[in-house]
Parts: sequence; structure tokens; C-alpha cells
Amino acid sequence: MNITIVGTGYVGLVTGTCFANAGNSVICLDVDPEKLKTLSKGEAPFYEPGLSELMTSSIESGNLTFSGEPESAYENADIIFICVGTPTGEDGRCNLSFVMGVADDIANAIGAQKDREVVVVVKSTVPVGTTHAVAARLSKSSVANFCIANNPEFLREGCAIDNFLQPDRIVCGFEDDHAKNTLTELYGPFVGDGRPLLFFDICSSEMVKYASNAMLACKISFINEIATLCERNGANIENVREGMCADNRIGTQFYKSGIGYGGSCFPKDTLAVMEMGDDLDAPCLVNTAVHELNQRQRRWFADRIVKQFGGSLEGKKVAIWGLAFKPQTDDVRDAPSIDIARTLSSFGATISAYDPEASETFLKEFADVHIAPDMYSAIDDVDALVICTEWEEFHAPDFDKMKQHMKEPVVFDGRNLYTMECMQKHDFQYFSVGRPDVVSQPVQDTRE
Ligand code: NAD
Repeated sequence: MNITIVGTGYVGLVTGTCFANAGNSVICLDVDPEKLKTLSKGEAPFYEPGLSELMTSSIESGNLTFSGEPESAYENADIIFICVGTPTGEDGRCNLSFVMGVADDIANAIGAQKDREVVVVVKSTVPVGTTHAVAARLSKSSVANFCIANNPEFLREGCAIDNFLQPDRIVCGFEDDHAKNTLTELYGPFVGDGRPLLFFDICSSEMVKYASNAMLACKISFINEIATLCERNGANIENVREGMCADNRIGTQFYKSGIGYGGSCFPKDTLAVMEMGDDLDAPCLVNTAVHELNQRQRRWFADRIVKQFGGSLEGKKVAIWGLAFKPQTDDVRDAPSIDIARTLSSFGATISAYDPEASETFLKEFADVHIAPDMYSAIDDVDALVICTEWEEFHAPDFDKMKQHMKEPVVFDGRNLYTMECMQKHDFQYFSVGRPDVVSQPVQDTRE
């Protein structure tokens, strides 16, 4: 099948590469010339495990090419996937200008071709009604037959290739058989074995994506709210979670207390749900609370560090381990680390930081940090270490070596990586989320 992917971000590039790998002929179109230069060399412009290798083999097989020319990129397409960004705009609303701009580009490029039948799929995360608005834009002054569909993407950065090749489910919204048949054929190699290909009406398909992200964000804010109570009443959130999640109805996934969610999806999608609620005169109370709790969580954590040092960090050196919004990515969009670094710096701290992949992207957001080449140099002579991302290499550090590097053995752990017993044994002052502080008093930690 001839496929054109519009937008080579995390979603577009992974989608295009995986479809090409399955034997389709794929052109990835983007407006960013710098990105196109990198892509043409077979290099991914961002860190995603396994992506560059898969790109290289698909480029070599001739199935994957890149273009900055809409006219030629759309010329032979059987199906076009719109994968451009839908960020939160300055007015707080979902910015659909990139999606609508692409609809205009498609109409300009091939709209005048009579008897042409093309399936146009909105894959970007869009508020309900947007796919129909794209259809209206396409059909305006076009004679080509555009079959519209919606196909939200559920991949997770850091394991995007696996997610795409072995999805939990694929959701499609459609209106006519041609779109349904085309998507069924295209996704055939990726479904089966308990991985359903679900077809719904377009509005429901758009809504599934928001409902899914809102639910996941809700789990995180929920457990963080309980963690706050634990902190005040002396309970331990890890024990509470274990006891709570033993109930099958609750489930075990995603209840991880910490400094909250970030990234390009949960924050903006939660806001978009709130926006939909306002527009429909059905205020989304749960989602509003989820968002506020998430913002509060990162503020609270930064404030706590400042408070521990008596309200000022003048003359203090603080290290941050982990800058990406989550492990296995270099994405720092809306990462808690940015707000935390800004707050610490505003109270006078000098900051050194280490992240296995996200240093460059972080520096574009906040440059007032010294980037260290490895995790131990980052903590040279520091008054405290702050952990913002749970990269694998931070899970089992050499605690004695850490103490040799640090001026003071003080750790603020925003991801609850270590047991309290372990930190007590190594004589650290240890502040985590929803658990008693490890200071000079003995503490009871019943977990291994
Ligand atoms: P991104 O911002 O990383 O990439 C978007 C790309 O689109 C950029 O390379 C940009 O140059 C390009 N672009 C913009 N206008 C264009 C045009 N007119 N023609 C061609 N290219 C154009 O975006 P992303 O993170 O891949 O997200 C894309 C969409 O998918 C968003 O709606 C997002 O919410 C959704 N989504 C993202 C993820 C994720 O993990 N990142 C997961 C699921 C869904």
C-alpha cells in the first residue's frame, strides 16, 4: 500500500517506520528541513530504543523515504495519516492549526483530481468533532473522493516500537466501507492473538484516546493524593498500594506515587478533556482535580527541598538525576524536572544534572544547569541529590561511592526508588513520596 505520513514526530516516525517494515511503501512528510536532513541519513531526531535500526533497514529496502514536498508526497498515496502535533495553545485550548493546515495542504495537492479515492486518517490526538472538521475542510472545493477516518495512537515513548508492533488494541473510527477495508488490510499484520482491531463511529474513536489518557493520569494523581495523606498520618504509600492493588477490581498497573506525570500527552490531554467539558456545559470535575493535583505534586516536592534547607538554597549545590519526563526517552515536554530545577535555582541553588539521554533537550528549556557526564560526577560535592526520573541505572547505585562524592548524604527521591531500610543502613537522610522520612530516628520499613 502507498502510505503518506504527515509529521515525523514520535508518532509519525514510528508509524511510518513500522508500516514500511511491514512491506508498505511509505513517504514521511515534514516541514522541518533540519529534521528531514537527519532522517534521510537514517537517524532518528530523538531517542527511541530500536527506532534508528528499523529506519535504516526500511530505508535500505526502499520502503521508507522522507520528503518536504507536499505535492509529490501526496501524489500516489492510497492512505494519508495526519500525525502532526496538537499542543495546548496559549489560550489553554488544543491548538488544531497544524492539523487543519495539513487538511488544506492535502486539498491543494490532490483535491482537484477527479475519480481519485484516498483515505485520510487523523492519527493526532484531537478533540471530538475534529476529524469531521477535517473532512469538511477537505471536501470544500475538492472533487477528489476523500474517505475520512480516525485512528488514535496509544504508543508509549520509550517502548514505542514494541507498542506499535504488538499493540494492546487498535482503535479506528470510520464512516464508509472503503476506509474500513483499507485500515483492516493495513493493520492485519499487527492484530490477532488477543490484540483486537476495533471499529467505532468517529466521535467514539476520538473520545477513546482522551478517556484512556485521562484514566491513566487519574490513577497517578489518585495515588499521589493518597501518598500525601500517608505522609501526614505516618502510613507508608508502598504498603498501602500493595494492600490496595491486591484487589483484582483495582488492578496493579500505574499506581506509582511520585512527582507526577509529564510529557506531551497526559498534561495536554487532561486539559483538552476539561476544555471539552466547558464547551459542552458539562464541567469535568475529576479531570480538573487530576490536573491540579499533578501541578501541586511537583510544586510540593520542590518546596519541600527548599524548606529542608531553611527557606534558602544560597550557596548550596544540588544535583538532579533524571531530566526526561520518564525513562527511555529524551523528551522533556512538561517534565517535572523543569519546574523543580527552576524553583531550586530561584532559591539560589547551583544545579548539576545527569540524564542518560535528555541533557540536550533539557538545556533548551532551562540552561542554568551544569550537565555532568555521568551520575557520580553529577553529585560531586553536592549538598543534596534530587531524583526526578526513574532510569534503570539509578535503581541500584553504589551507595558508598555516592557518599564519597557527596558533601552531604541527603537524597530527595521523587520516584521512590530505594527502600527506607536500605537508606537507613547506608546512613543517608532520605526524603521520598508518601513514606516517613529517613533521618536520625529508626524507621520501620516492612518491604524488601
Ligand atoms: P511532535 O510534535 O513530536 O511532531 C510533530 C511533527 O509534525 C513535527 O516534526 C512537525 O515539524 C511536523 N509538522 C507540523 N506541521 C506540519 C505540516 N503542515 N506538514 C508536515 N509536517 C508538519 O508530535 P508527536 O509527539 O509525534 O505527537 C503527534 C500527535 O500524536 C499529537 O496529537 C499527540 O498528542 C499524539 N500522540 C503522541 C504520543 C507521544 O507519545 N508523543 C502518543 C500518542 C499520541
